[in-house]
Amino acid sequence: MEERLQKLYEECIYELNSIGIDILNLDIGTIDIQISKRNNKRYGCCKQEEPDKCTKYYERIGNRRYLRYAKFNKHTIEISKWVMNLDKDIIKNTIMHEIIHCFPYCNNHGREFKRYASIINEKLHYDITRVGNKELDYAKSNIEYNEKINFKYKIMCEKCAQTFYRQRLVKNFIKKYRCGKCGGKLAIKY
Ligand SMILES: [Zn+2]
Ligand SMILES: [Zn+2]
Repeated sequence: MEERLQKLYEECIYELNSIGIDILNLDIGTIDIQISKRNNKRYGCCKQEEPDKCTKYYERIGNRRYLRYAKFNKHTIEISKWVMNLDKDIIKNTIMHEIIHCFPYCNNHGREFKRYASIINEKLHYDITRVGNKELDYAKSNIEYNEKINFKYKIMCEKCAQTFYRQRLVKNFIKKYRCGKCGGKLAIKY
C-alpha cells in the first residue's frame, strides 16, 4: 500500500511540473508521504515542521492575533487507510490537496490554497475542495459507504466473532461487557 501511495505521489509531482508548478522552485524543503497509522475520519493531513522564521506573520481572528508562518521546511503528508480503497482519481485528489498545503501561505484553506486548487482543477482536471464528500467518493468507487470503517474502535467477540464499532469506550470496557449474542469475551481490535 505504501508503495502504491509513493507512486501516485510521484505522478502528482510530475503532473504539477507539467503545468509549471515545480516544487523545487517553491523552496519548501522536504515532503514525506505515508499512510496514517491511526484510523482517521479525515482523508488526509499535512504536518508542518521547521518554520521559516523569516516568513512570520500574524493572522487576526476576531480580536486576537495568532502567530503564523507562511513557509515550512519539513512536511509530512498522511493519507488515511480507507482512502486507499477508493478510486485512483480520488486518492490522487487527496494527495494533491495535501501537497498544496505544503506550498507557501497554503497551510490553511485560505486564498492562496484556493488559487492553487483552482489552477490544478482547471488544468489537470482535479476536483480539489476544502473538504471531500465521502458518500459521493464511495459511490464513485463502487464501494458501499459504511460509516463503520471510520469509527475509532473495533470490538470483536472472541467466541462468535460478532463485530461492532464505537467512537468512544468507557474505562475497563472489556472487563465490564460481554458479547450480547453469545456472552463471550470481547477484544478490542483497534
Ligand atoms: Zn486541507
Ligand atoms: Zn459472541
